[in-house]
Amino acid sequence: MGLVEFLGWPLVRQVTGRDRLGRGHAAMSRRSETLEPRTVQADRVVDSVCPFCAVGCAQKVFVKDGEVTQIEGSPASPISRGRLCPKGSASKQLVTSPTRVTKVRYRRPFATEWEDLDLDTAVDMIADRVIKTRKEFWEWEADSRRTRRTLGIASLGGATLDNEENYLMKKLYTAMGAIQIENQARI
Ligand code: SF4
Repeated sequence: MGLVEFLGWPLVRQVTGRDRLGRGHAAMSRRSETLEPRTVQADRVVDSVCPFCAVGCAQKVFVKDGEVTQIEGSPASPISRGRLCPKGSASKQLVTSPTRVTKVRYRRPFATEWEDLDLDTAVDMIADRVIKTRKEFWEWEADSRRTRRTLGIASLGGATLDNEENYLMKKLYTAMGAIQIENQARI
């Protein structure tokens, strides 16, 4: 072994150089010294909030050519100070996973197979059901007190709904007279 090769050993570099804890330059190979995080290639960084739970850790979403390339914790957050838990760290997959469902899937009553629906058809079907159910279960009064509500519609949101989606859902359901509105992240 030549002297140059010996001096290149990580342990030798650690005990002879300034990186005595071996957490920086001393632990790097020539290959790892040339690597760079994919975040530096982003052409845009968008501030966001992790949609997974009610803690609401702030995120930085790195975008290149219109595609999300990485999501990391935002140091600006007073709650998480740049950190994300494993769920938040994996939230990029919510957007980019090839298994993400991007079409409306519908299984008719008593059917054994799912079918794809176009969005307009699905929205019409939902609207018909909402109007019918609201009317059928509408309650003007209960125990001689004015209620003006429907008990036929309820909502249980998931933790992957973001703040804005939850806000709009609450507005919509309240306007319809539904009162049973809850989110899994709060239970
Ligand atoms: S799921 Fe994790 S990263 Fe996301 S808000 Fe909750 S604690 Fe924060």
